[in-house]
Amino acid sequence: MKHPQPIPVHATSHPQGKVIFVGAGPGHPDLLTLRAMNCLQEADVVVYDTLVPSQLLDLIHTRVERIPVPRTHAGDTGAAHADPGETTGHLLAALAAKGRMVVRLKGGDPAVFGRLAEELQPVREAGIAFEIVPGITAALAAAAAAGMPLTSRSSASSVTILTGHEAEEKNAVIDFQTMAGLSGTLAIYMGVEQADAWSRGLIAAGKSADTPVTVVSRCSWPDQQIAVTTLGACAADFDRCGWPSPAVVIVGEVSQPTEQPLQKSSAHPTRAHDDRPLAGQRVLLTRPSGQAEELSARIHSLGGECLHVPTIQIEPPLSLEPLDRAIGLADTFDWIVFASANGVRAFVERMRTAGLDGRSLGTARLAAIGPATHRAIAQAGLTCNLTPALFRSEGIVDALGHSMRGGRFLLVRADHGRDLMRRKLQWLGHHVTEVVAYRSVAVEALDPKSLAAIDSRGIDWVILTSSLNAEASARLFTNRILCWKIASISPVTSAAIATCQLTTTAEALEATSQGLVEAIVDYEKRMSETSAMKTLPLQTLAHAADSSKNE
Ligand code: SAH
Repeated sequence: MKHPQPIPVHATSHPQGKVIFVGAGPGHPDLLTLRAMNCLQEADVVVYDTLVPSQLLDLIHTRVERIPVPRTHAGDTGAAHADPGETTGHLLAALAAKGRMVVRLKGGDPAVFGRLAEELQPVREAGIAFEIVPGITAALAAAAAAGMPLTSRSSASSVTILTGHEAEEKNAVIDFQTMAGLSGTLAIYMGVEQADAWSRGLIAAGKSADTPVTVVSRCSWPDQQIAVTTLGACAADFDRCGWPSPAVVIVGEVSQPTEQPLQKSSAHPTRAHDDRPLAGQRVLLTRPSGQAEELSARIHSLGGECLHVPTIQIEPPLSLEPLDRAIGLADTFDWIVFASANGVRAFVERMRTAGLDGRSLGTARLAAIGPATHRAIAQAGLTCNLTPALFRSEGIVDALGHSMRGGRFLLVRADHGRDLMRRKLQWLGHHVTEVVAYRSVAVEALDPKSLAAIDSRGIDWVILTSSLNAEASARLFTNRILCWKIASISPVTSAAIATCQLTTTAEALEATSQGLVEAIVDYEKRMSETSAMKTLPLQTLAHAADSSKNE
């Protein structure tokens, strides 16, 4: 077979255009390569799989055109279509022929079950230069997440990556005899739906039903799940627990947790010897889709696991006219104050729709209520002139309210929420215009699969980040929430939690993701110290009491 060779730029009729196939890794931005990151920054257009999570797409500058490619190849759903790769390849070639730098962002590694050959063909035929940037493939990321090797000197001398979705096809491509005979690890992609077929195939070909199996679902995503089972039990377990896609299954002795008995059919992850402060804590995130990533990354890094079930969602305002009008008048304000990252995104999107960019803001300066909003402003390519030390409305008023007389303020906000900032600024003699950039809407009903995932895994903490979020969560999770510890982002949210007849367990000192996670860690630390005290010998406790009297 001939190896693909990058076509020298001078040999093409499209001197600048190029297609770069970039591996996005399993999903978390931390698992991108530096080369991938650079490519995303240099791109004119990014063509991405719908499986690429929004946290990765958020890294792309808003000036870059984004084109989603429908998930047409057979994934865990098993739905196959004719030549989707080639169609995408033609699209890539056409975009690059216009002289554009095209990034084709593909989950994991572009060369592993990614229809790379089909997508490459039209690009090569059109004489377009191309490059391939490798990414971390799901099996490698999954083994790392599960804390296990893929090879082992004693039990696994090879790793085989195979697809599970062909297990049920008539002329099954999977050679079960060969696979069962390998003294190594099998990493099965697209395998959850067909687990019954491939597990039976492997057992019939001689692989022991007791062979350990690890499943990593949504590896590195906010709601990653890891569980250990066996080859004989995995199909029933998958059915029962409903492991969400995408998921990779690792079959082989390497799956056996070394220091802990195998948890057969367990829906719980293995956490041997993890002394991080949130190890074993299961945290339910309820923020809107695409907005739990920072929280989940912090919780994961401290050993906790997250399940993300949004109870509120973001929608456009009922009428866009007031927002468009405010954008048209943007340069008449002294300050434009954004109360959330959502507000920034909605504002910038309407600006772009109107064909405007940062220049249309004139001399208006931009303020963000907190660090996440600050980041959203920077991601939009704009400069944030102020982020107050206190991440609440009061912080903005303290920082700006006294800095001028009769200032002109535009407050960009959600439909819900306090209007304290407007009232205080007006009271100080400023002219304030408020505009609703988006609506936070409570989710009406939860998907039964989400509730099943909550019930099968168990939850230790739920995080609530606004009054609406608290009310919606109390309604949607019903009595379940009574058994969970509740972390609240601010006193205002805690008051809403109290109105729902619930008790806040820990409240963030600072209204940020970091503040929330610190509040949880602090609570858990205090609890473990209290239980350690309880297990001290009586004599030691008596001594401790005596010495405290002398202080
Ligand atoms: N090119 C990708 C594979 C695409 S095929 C790669 O190198 O990883 C799609 C399959 O990859 C899914 O069905 C699942 O088995 C696996 N997969 C991709 N991303 C995953 C993730 N974040 N967690 C678990 N499995 C994943």
